Amino acid sequence: MLVVDSFFYPDATRALIGEIRRLTPKPIRYLVNTHYHIDHTGGDQVVRGAGAIIIAHRNVRGWVRVNNIALMGDRITPEIAARIAAVPLPDLVTDKDLIVWLGSRKIVVRTVLGHTGGDLIVEVPDAKVMFTGDMLWRKVAPNLIDGSISEWSKTTGGFARLPDAAQMRFVPGHGDVADVKDVEQFRAYLLDLQRLVVEGSRKARLKGDALVGYVAPKLRSKYSDWTISERSIAAEVRYMNEELIGTKRRPVPQPD
Ligand SMILES: [Zn+2]
Repeated sequence: MLVVDSFFYPDATRALIGEIRRLTPKPIRYLVNTHYHIDHTGGDQVVRGAGAIIIAHRNVRGWVRVNNIALMGDRITPEIAARIAAVPLPDLVTDKDLIVWLGSRKIVVRTVLGHTGGDLIVEVPDAKVMFTGDMLWRKVAPNLIDGSISEWSKTTGGFARLPDAAQMRFVPGHGDVADVKDVEQFRAYLLDLQRLVVEGSRKARLKGDALVGYVAPKLRSKYSDWTISERSIAAEVRYMNEELIGTKRRPVPQPD
């Protein structure tokens, strides 16, 4: 048994373990963290407590207890800060692809670029399933705080061009289970965001709230069935603009 990501609240993780136990008595041997963000690692201790070793990108050890404070921003509370400080560090780290054998079932853990600089995805080739972590959001505006749209859009383009893409199920980091059309729509969203921020900032010379005011209505009208909050769109436009002008800060790999 291999689990992908562990939610934000340990109670949700305990419910997941309970559900797994209803389905199978097989041991929970591995937990793969797709990246360090606390809404994917917050229940790691619970899965480790159930017997799993934690697999992550090698950069996650340096970031999971430090950079999640910045990720939470003004939403941090003493309780969340204490939980972040106590998140277990991964046991097995990699900056290369891995194959994990669960009996005769092959699981492929791949390194990918785009969301944080320390991202993994998990493929189950015989089931035609890919767990994408936050490389894919389905009908939800993505968090770009640590991202690079130029890398990210290339990675999702690669998912859509996989030989089996039309038959695959993609399990996103946020939103319902997706198909290749959702992958293509997500990539289009990233590229539309990039194009609109270029238009607004370079041609119309807009900044700050005015730039958000230029971009947000156009995205909302084209992606009318998406969840795009005021907070997320304002942050997306700012991060996109920073990437375009070369001031975007991304997490820096730390020595082991
Ligand atoms: Zn994330």
